[in-house]
Amino acid sequence: MTGQEALWLKAFALGLTHSQVLARRSFSVEEAAKIEAVITRREKGEPLQYIMGEADFWGRDFRVGQGVLIPRHDTETLIEAVIRHIPRDEEFTFIDWGTGSGCIAITLLMEYPNASAYMLENSPQAMRYAQFNLERYGLTSRAKLVASAETLPPCKLLISNPPYIPSAEIDGLIKDVRDYEPHTALDGGQDGLDCYREIFTLAERLCCELVVLETGEHSLKALCDNFRVIDEVLDGGNFPRGLTFRRRMIHEDA
Ligand code: GLN
Repeated sequence: MTGQEALWLKAFALGLTHSQVLARRSFSVEEAAKIEAVITRREKGEPLQYIMGEADFWGRDFRVGQGVLIPRHDTETLIEAVIRHIPRDEEFTFIDWGTGSGCIAITLLMEYPNASAYMLENSPQAMRYAQFNLERYGLTSRAKLVASAETLPPCKLLISNPPYIPSAEIDGLIKDVRDYEPHTALDGGQDGLDCYREIFTLAERLCCELVVLETGEHSLKALCDNFRVIDEVLDGGNFPRGLTFRRRMIHEDA
């Protein structure tokens, strides 16, 4: 645990600001017990965001807890990808496949005042967090949370940070992730590509013009005959994390 994390946890445990904690010379017995309780949870590996119940994404707070993936900084590359290709005043509908906390869809709805969203999520637990976060930002009238893709209408954009870790690699993840975050949000099947197959089939069926996806170390080329990569957004490690695909026009060369 870093010194910074310890400070955040102390402030959280006592309901104080960081500077109030730093200004304190001592803590009462009750206060020390509250601090001890959260520090112990963190030391056992529980992610800071689960303990505090909040995670930051694109500068906004999202309610999280066990059962929902913690929004990652890398996933912000998807927001940047959309901003590069869709003008801010455009009126359009998009699907956020596997919405989890709702961080992607909610950020886009905040950045695009004329957009509306279908947020697809099959975990009831995750859905409750998405609903909470939608209400928090006053967006319930512009978004629909759905558990199945069956009735979705055609949409301009499909965006997703799908589970993409090959099943055999789940055991080797760092303890904080492996022991606390939902495996259904991480496990992409034997080759890590199961969800991408499903996503491209759906994007084809719903005539999506753009597909924006987070990716790991694998190539998606073989999966997307009808879409081609038009842009890559690099993450902090210079890895092309956020890919934008455009639907091929009829007769367009491969
Ligand atoms: N869309 C959510 C996120 O990016 C959840 C993704 C997931 O569960 N794989 O954080």
